[in-house]
Order: sequence, then structure tokens, then C-alpha cells
Amino acid sequence: MKQRITVLGSTGSIGTSTLDVVRRHPGKFEVFALSAATQVEALLAQCLEFQPRYAVMASAAHARLLAEKLQQNSAKTVVLQAPEALETIASHEEVDAVMGAIVGAAGLAPCLAAARAGKRLLLANKEALVVGGALFMETVRNHGCTLLPIDSEHSAIFQCLPEERSTWARRVHSIILTASGGPFRQRDPATLHEVTPAQACKHPNFSMGRKISVDSATMMNKALEVIEARWLFDMAPEQIRVVLHPEQIIHSMVQLQDSSILAQLGTPDMRVPIACGLAWPERIISGVEPLDFTRLAALTFEEADAQRFPGVHLSWQALRAPEGTTTVLNAANEVAVDAFLHERLRFDRIHAVNQATLEALVPQERPGSVAALLELDAQARAVAARMAQRWAM
Ligand code: NAD
Ligand code: MG
Repeated sequence: MKQRITVLGSTGSIGTSTLDVVRRHPGKFEVFALSAATQVEALLAQCLEFQPRYAVMASAAHARLLAEKLQQNSAKTVVLQAPEALETIASHEEVDAVMGAIVGAAGLAPCLAAARAGKRLLLANKEALVVGGALFMETVRNHGCTLLPIDSEHSAIFQCLPEERSTWARRVHSIILTASGGPFRQRDPATLHEVTPAQACKHPNFSMGRKISVDSATMMNKALEVIEARWLFDMAPEQIRVVLHPEQIIHSMVQLQDSSILAQLGTPDMRVPIACGLAWPERIISGVEPLDFTRLAALTFEEADAQRFPGVHLSWQALRAPEGTTTVLNAANEVAVDAFLHERLRFDRIHAVNQATLEALVPQERPGSVAALLELDAQARAVAARMAQRWAM
């Protein structure tokens, strides 16, 4: 039986890599639904190739345009409109697996819908866990969802951890997340205020979406990943450490009680964790060249410099604060990154906005529902927008 898949965010970096792996295995996977925000032409091409039952676009105007073009090509795909339709295609009874590859808090509701429907959920959308980790993991547990991490660090950890989850608390000492350090690892911190969006989006080893590229440059990506790891693997904040590893060959590590450390290695290409998630526990061809050890010069490691990357520490700070603080942090960062990408905020002030928003908005009660999380998210966005305005260029 083929696995029927919904890809949320299919036109993005993770979405297209997912379809690249799927394309190599026509006998194993069938695309049930695809979705994109506004990229009509890209989604049209994917629909013509994979012939999904449904395609979802973010606005009525984009949906209409895509439907017209599909009709001109005599394609049968039915076009629906987000946000409700994202939950429909994520939880549809004919779907086996869902790839959550929307960027930002916008992915929370559809990923939760997939979890509630007990799907096999491949989660790239780390922000969903940063916004609502406690509720998310509770939903996964209560509804028999199989959660497979796609973020390369978390896929590495998942592959290194003992298979039996109930033994983790006893056997695992800590998790070591590796970080590339992004494009500014060696840049003079005094010049960070001059960084342009184009420079920030030019990652040394990967081509990724613009938001995660900026997060890699500020290392807020690692902050989000610390929070993601806390929820995925049920670790205390102090059990999660970060080390810089510019070559990105080791994708992360697990330290066991006896000080044995297990690492997962490979060519840095997201198709490996994607193929791992698609086939788990089987293994399939990903299309990625394996490492050639005779050509690897050296694996190096450094400590993350707190002056250059002040954002990383906000993760531990937010995890120790009242629940909901990570929701606030994520919202602030989304607002700040967007302002930076639109050249309304200096690069070095992304951190200032994040920190000031955390100070200004301390959650008063535990956000125990999606509605409460989205309400807190909206409040934090409003506060962060004011901060971004205050420091506007
Ligand atoms: P991207 O910007 O390339 O793609 C995002 C996709 O989501 C696109 O298809 C876009 O149309 C869609 N989308 C954006 N906003 C939306 C909205 N409001 N409603 C509905 N759809 C929307 O991003 P990406 O780099 O593919 O990253 C996707 C997620 O995966 C992010 O959470 C990112 O942190 C995570 N991730 C990415 C990488 C990577 O290498 N790119 C690695 C690890 C984790
Ligand atoms: Mg990652």
C-alpha cells in the first residue's frame, strides 16, 4: 500500500526537497494534497506533476487563479482556501502522513489537526513546538500521533536515542545540538548593524527559506531548536547544550549516563532527514551523496560567542519562565525578522526587539488551548511591532 501524503508548505525549501524524495519512489508514496501561501505558478507545476486530490492557497484570489490555470490544463485537482482547508487536508481520513513545512506560527493549527487525527506527522515547522509545545505533545500522546522530527538536529537526536522512549529518562544524560554559526560566525560584531537581508540570507552550507536564514544568522534558529528539543525529547532545559560546528557534518549528539556520546553524521542536505521521516523505521534512497571521508579535512568545534549571538540564551531564559513565554519569544522574533527583511529594522536590533518584548509581556496564565496560544501570539506581535517601531530605521 502506498503512503498517502499531504505536504503543508510544498513550494518552500523543505516542501520541494520533500517532493524531490517522493518523486524517487513512485511505488511508495502518493501525494494527496499540497499547499502554498501565494506561489501560484510553483504550486501549479507541482499539481500537474503529482496530481493531488486537493491544493490549498492562502487567499481567495490566489485560489481562484490556481483553479483557472488547473482547468486550462484539464487537471482534476480541487483548489481550497486556507486557513480552514489546511486543517482539512492535514486531518483527512484518507491521509497517512503529513509533512508540516509551513514557516512560523501559521503552521500550528494544521499540524495540531494532523496530530489530533492520529497521523504520522513529519515536523519541520519548529515554530509550532515553540508556540505550543506542551499542548502539542499532549495532543500527540492522546491521539496516537507518530511524531517524526525533520529539523536536521532533531532527526539526528531521534536517530541516536534509544528506541524505547520509556528508558530515556534513565539512560540519557544530555543532548548536544550542533550549530553552523551561520554567515556571520567570524564577522566583527561591531559591524552587525550594517548587515543587509541579502547578506543574512546567504547561508554558507544550505539554501533555505528567508525566515530561517535570518534565524540562522542571528542564531535565534538555535534558540528555537533548544525549545523544540525540550518538547520533542522531554528534556530539562539544562540537559540541552549547544556547540558550534561550522562544517555541519555532525548533525547533533546524545550523551548517555556513562559519558558515551552518539552522533549522527552525513552530507548536510535536508533530503536525508526528510527521507528518514518518510520511511521510518525503513530506510530509502534520499538522492544525497554519502560523505567521502577521504575528502573531509577536519571537524571543528567552538563555543557560541554570547556577544555575537545573544539570542541563543533567550531559549533557556524563556523555558525557565512561565509557560507561554516561548510563545511570546517566537512571535517577537517573527515580527522582528519580518521588519528586518523589509528593511525597517537593523539586523542587530532583532535581538533588542525580542528581549524587550519578553520583558514587556509576561504571560499571566497558562495558555491551555489553541485559542489561548493564538491570543497570546497576537498580543506579543502587537507589543513587538511597537518595539520594532521604536527602533525603526
Ligand atoms: P520557506 O519559506 O521556503 O517555505 C514556507 C512554505 O510555507 C511555502 O510553501 C509557503 O508558501 C508556505 N507558507 C508560508 N506562510 C504561510 C502561511 N501563513 N499560511 C500557509 N502557508 C504558508 O520555508 P522553509 O525554509 O521550507 O522552512 C519551513 C519550516 O521548516 C520552517 O519552520 C523552518 O524553520 C523549518 N526548517 C527548514 C529547514 C530548511 O533547510 N529550509 C531546516 C530545518 C527546519
Ligand atoms: Mg535545524
